[in-house]
Amino acid sequence: MTTSAELFEQACRHIPGGVNSPVRAFKGLHRPPVFMESAKGAYLFDVEGKRYVDYVGSWGPMITGHADPDVLGAVRERLDKGLSFGTPTAVETTMAELICEIIPSIEMVRMTNSGTEATMSAIRLARGFTGRDKIVKFEGNYHGHSDSLLVKAGSGALTHGEPSSPGVPAALAEHTITLSYNDIDEVERCFEEIGSQIACIIVEPVAGNMNCIPPSADFLKTLRQVCDRHQSVLIFDEVMTGFRVALGGAQAHFGVTPDLTCLGKIVGGGMPVGAFGGSREIMSELSPLGPVYQAGTLAGNPLAMAAGVALLTKLKEPGFHKALAQRVETLCNGLESRAREAGIDMITQRVGGMFGVFFTAQSSVENFAQATACDADAFRRFFTAMLEQGVYLAPSAYEAGFMSSAHTPEDIQVTLDAAEKAFAQMTT
Ligand code: PLP
Repeated sequence: MTTSAELFEQACRHIPGGVNSPVRAFKGLHRPPVFMESAKGAYLFDVEGKRYVDYVGSWGPMITGHADPDVLGAVRERLDKGLSFGTPTAVETTMAELICEIIPSIEMVRMTNSGTEATMSAIRLARGFTGRDKIVKFEGNYHGHSDSLLVKAGSGALTHGEPSSPGVPAALAEHTITLSYNDIDEVERCFEEIGSQIACIIVEPVAGNMNCIPPSADFLKTLRQVCDRHQSVLIFDEVMTGFRVALGGAQAHFGVTPDLTCLGKIVGGGMPVGAFGGSREIMSELSPLGPVYQAGTLAGNPLAMAAGVALLTKLKEPGFHKALAQRVETLCNGLESRAREAGIDMITQRVGGMFGVFFTAQSSVENFAQATACDADAFRRFFTAMLEQGVYLAPSAYEAGFMSSAHTPEDIQVTLDAAEKAFAQMTT
């Protein structure tokens, strides 16, 4: 049997760092990544046959669990008709109608192949629509790896200590203004000074790439107000939160309506998909209706659409998100009480189906500075102890955790038992 360590060594010969996306590399965790072979429901199975209760869910899409029979069935049904035609297909319209029905602020939507393309295209559209160059983002928010947005970013860029990547031209980065998440005064000041030059604000309405940080009361509302005041476009990057924190995403959960919304992850049911959409007025600026160019050879790929439509349709079942949030609540409360009993400084934060675990003595974590001040070594020890006991958490202190409807009370109990042992090990 080939082990994960052997496979990783082999992978490193021809793949930079052995991985096709940096956060998979387990950097900073002092161990090679685990190579997975298959997955079903709440579980991942590695190449050595070990089972893990999974709280990563392919970084978000697997909200009903892995290998969902309805999603796989929809893909199988399309498969024999061909993989891609480079022409319009009816299933793309089905997807667009479904998205517009679930998220009312989206009147028109364009599909892409990734979340990165969705945010990159939304930024271009906002710039084209307003005729302005500057954009505002928040420190520790990650919106994919396009040049304009890879400035003081979260996720892998943060784990690897390179918030701004070499290769991003300074002239381009100059147009990206980075403010502190949840700092209303800073946003107000920035817009008072140069509001007329700002094309858009892009924000993760719940930050999930510097662990899990909910917006403070009035943060999102303030963003809406300043954008209205200065005719800037408000973009919610709901690649992570869309269909997860509520069916209608964070905008439904918090009752704040953006101009443009970026989607990814769940919208593709596990296939490589992104999307961005918004008001008819702004979206009509897109090519071929308008002058702002955006395209994709495989965008709206019928197999990917079939997977996404099948998954979104399931999520419309009444009570789905309430039950999901309840599972997160049970897990987080259980982790906190076990940490308390063990005398470990740890808190959790959650919104709907996403959560974060912070090793800190603070009662809440509200921004990048506080997130990065948490005890990274305690996280590393916790992660390793959980992995050894068959619980797969995100391999970085700066990533949110994801629950699925396939996680049973028994799975949560297994997780809490493992955490109890992990905390005990951490105190010895
Ligand atoms: N936006 C957010 C909020 C994300 O979490 C991510 C990826 O994790 C992206 C954008 C980029 O999406 P993708 O990795 O599909 O390019």
